[in-house]
Amino acid sequence: MPKYYYDLHIHSCLSPCGDMDMTPNNLVNMAKLLGLDVIALTDHNTSLNCEAAMKVGEEVGLLVIPGMELTTTEDIHAVCLFPDLEKALAFCSYVDGHRIKVRNRPDIYGRQVIMNEQDEETGEIEHLLLPSGGIGIMDAYRTAKEFGGICYPAHIDRDSLSILSVLGEIDPACGFRTAELADISKLDELRKTHPILDTMHIITCSDAHYLENMKDAQNTIELPALTREAVIEYLDSAECRIHTKINAEGF
Ligand SMILES: [Zn+2]
Ligand SMILES: [Zn+2]
Repeated sequence: MPKYYYDLHIHSCLSPCGDMDMTPNNLVNMAKLLGLDVIALTDHNTSLNCEAAMKVGEEVGLLVIPGMELTTTEDIHAVCLFPDLEKALAFCSYVDGHRIKVRNRPDIYGRQVIMNEQDEETGEIEHLLLPSGGIGIMDAYRTAKEFGGICYPAHIDRDSLSILSVLGEIDPACGFRTAELADISKLDELRKTHPILDTMHIITCSDAHYLENMKDAQNTIELPALTREAVIEYLDSAECRIHTKINAEGF
């Protein structure tokens, strides 16, 4: 199967901690320059900049998957991906109805700006997007599936806001088929204490909040076709692989 370069965890200027230079045009064009084939836009608890990024992606020839980085009720970050914009926006609307609503303090957290495909501001979210999206970790996968997408734990190797730092383990009952590591060199160590990782797809992404944090095309995923559906179906499949440069080079 052909291999494609991916980065499935990127934030835009809509995330409070995302740089204002992370506009739809800037981030998609940077991904293209870096040689990526497919990216996902995963702002905190919202998918409202996905439409613009997908339109820019269509113009420049880069596949953009609409997504979200959900904060669960336990303060665990989990990436949700959807095969089309309608499903992503329906899930976004559900989260918006359940998430904790405290006013954003742009002076502290930064602005949360919605843009169109011309990078023009079309709105700003007034409630801070970082707190809980109102879905528990045990329900995250099932809920994303109900909306036609998938969900998996983000940066599991981090010391905070990760499933391992909060719960200490990945309960098989969560249903996750994929795990994302921030630092892939920690995988061997983690597998010793968490053998469940041997039964999951392992990916690593930039989690970029700034253009300069976006990474060169390094990690590949094998797909029968370069489509949103193929990416999502594969990461949800039972055929588990480590989708990293390390694995590709046989280290
Ligand atoms: Zn995160
Ligand atoms: Zn993130």
